[in-house]
Amino acid sequence: MLKIEGLTIHYGVIPAVKELNIDIPQGKVVCLIGTNGSGKTTTLRGISGIIKPKSGRILFEGKDLSRLDSHEIVRMGISQVPEGRGVFADLTVLENLKLGAFIRKDKQAINKDLEEVFALFPRLNERKHQQSGTLSGGEQQMLAMGRALMARPKLLLLDEPSMGLAPIIVKEIFKIIKRINDEGTTVLLVEQNANMALSVAHHGYVLETGEIVAQGTADELQNNDMIRRIYLGIH
Ligand code: ATP
Repeated sequence: MLKIEGLTIHYGVIPAVKELNIDIPQGKVVCLIGTNGSGKTTTLRGISGIIKPKSGRILFEGKDLSRLDSHEIVRMGISQVPEGRGVFADLTVLENLKLGAFIRKDKQAINKDLEEVFALFPRLNERKHQQSGTLSGGEQQMLAMGRALMARPKLLLLDEPSMGLAPIIVKEIFKIIKRINDEGTTVLLVEQNANMALSVAHHGYVLETGEIVAQGTADELQNNDMIRRIYLGIH
């Protein structure tokens, strides 16, 4: 579904990612793991059109996205849940969710999708009239994911959904990621929490200082000595 070929992105003269090749098959969860500053967020921003690559191609269903604007990329079916969630704090939960459907005009279908988001995240339903800035971190993550789903993406990009959340909430969020994928959405998941990421992903890539140093199925990565030692904390 998404094929990244030779992607290089610079900030000024400094390369943040170099010659990346990543394949995201339709219907799968693919994760990108790596420590701080390894280039995970930069890769996602390249896909969603927030930054323009220096070279390389990003093919989505065969079409090169690398020169398109963000809003065109959203219309093609790619939604990003940014690191730090990016919910509009002064708006209610319901208002934030409706904003997620801004590219759509089909009111009835939007209302049906709202019901589906509430089924996926019952907590958001209970709090739909609450100001979003007063939600807990976990609830804000759910809201950011719900908002992205309101655009009916074919590919959902998640940037560190576990960040700053208690382990029990992380588990809940990852269960929902799995459910979203089971219902047909392809997912690219960026995570520092390699354990959790590999527990839901089919395939994974490991980034170090902007380059892929390992890749494989989740099983292969979980059994790779280097990954176990450095990323999974197993000695
Ligand atoms: P984290 O988990 O800490 O967000 P990351 O793997 O997502 O890390 P990136 O945010 O993609 O890493 O950063 C990759 C490199 O690019 C880092 O060295 C970072 O300092 C640099 N970088 C990121 N954003 C900018 C920017 N706007 N200007 C200059 N350099 C940047």
